[in-house]
Amino acid sequence: MVNVRVNGDRLMTSLMELAAIGVTDGGGVTRLALSDEDRAGRDLLSSWMNEAGLEVRVDDFGNMTGLRAGKTDEPPVLLASHIDTVVKGGKYDGALGVIGALEVIRTLNDNSIETGKPVAVVNWTNEEGARFEPAMQCSGAVAGRFTREYVYNRSDRQGIRFEDELRRIGYLGEESSRPLPASAYLELHIEQGPVLEDAKQAVGVVGGIVGITWIEVTITGQSDHAGPSPMGLRRDPLVAASEIIQGVERIATMEDDIAVATVGRISVEPNVINTIPGKVVFSVDFRHPDGEVLNDQAARLEALVAHVCSERSVTGEVNRFWASEPTPFDPAVVKAIRSTCTSLGVDYGELWSGAGHDAKYMAGICPSGMVFVRSKGGLSHCEEEESSAEDIEAGVNVLLGAALRLASRKR
Ligand SMILES: [Zn+2]
Repeated sequence: MVNVRVNGDRLMTSLMELAAIGVTDGGGVTRLALSDEDRAGRDLLSSWMNEAGLEVRVDDFGNMTGLRAGKTDEPPVLLASHIDTVVKGGKYDGALGVIGALEVIRTLNDNSIETGKPVAVVNWTNEEGARFEPAMQCSGAVAGRFTREYVYNRSDRQGIRFEDELRRIGYLGEESSRPLPASAYLELHIEQGPVLEDAKQAVGVVGGIVGITWIEVTITGQSDHAGPSPMGLRRDPLVAASEIIQGVERIATMEDDIAVATVGRISVEPNVINTIPGKVVFSVDFRHPDGEVLNDQAARLEALVAHVCSERSVTGEVNRFWASEPTPFDPAVVKAIRSTCTSLGVDYGELWSGAGHDAKYMAGICPSGMVFVRSKGGLSHCEEEESSAEDIEAGVNVLLGAALRLASRKR
């Protein structure tokens, strides 16, 4: 394996140049999918891809692929992420993976390295789903999870259609330009959580993307006047809910130290200061790498709701209304990333992603993996999002090394 390293200064300069497009007062970025800012970012990226000698193709979802030929014409190793952001997002979420991939290509060029398989940079359209829901839309469409009709007819809050905006910004291309087939898929991303920082590790080798279960719990009791109703005669659904919410935290913490559970939404009826509530509805979000654990947690929640409700003479209903299966990454791709960390002497940790990424859908159609870079304070989707230049450079060096390994791997 050639001992090459990326150019950290050039990498940071390009990241900052892209971050200037849609820059916010607080030093973050607002570059919503298919906005004028997205177009400007794409134009800049496209010019950089051309300068790096890449053939740039745009598909029917606006996904951009810059292909660098290899010794063979086998399917390429894709290095991908996204340049769209949420409102008042950060400089690195998504952009790091795309500019990091570009820096890998520039480094291969500098060192006149001819890879076995071709290597390609991919910029996915609308990963965030902040303007056109849902998230990860265009990797999902390429992976066969969404139809073109579905994607084209998504509209933003102003009622503007995806397809119309894609055409307006000049990035409506051909189906034949989709980045498929692929030999392997690598995505470099900031961690967006505090695990690497807590463990004092610069880079994360990602085992997969956790599964998610969304549950809605409805507790119904008896609404009544707050004054004349003695405590012993009440059927208060909010007090029952509070016990259950404490239990949700216990269900996660008793499992292991990676299970997470969140009650993020609650509504109380009638929500009046001097009235005992009659009905409470709240959400539960369970996340874990193991689907069986998620099933167990949902079952424990059901038992808990039944127990608390019978003790408090209220009724409970548990509705598991949405689930996303855990997505383990390809062992050979994960190994290529881990081996690269070891050979580069990078301080790394192993973790699963608690958030969704385009890699989730790509994992369904080709061997995939992700590299994380430590986030300061674990913050993301905000203007304060930050990673050090040293960690970013280490992450891109890992991306380069893993890409070289995968591009030279025999079929
Ligand atoms: Zn992202």
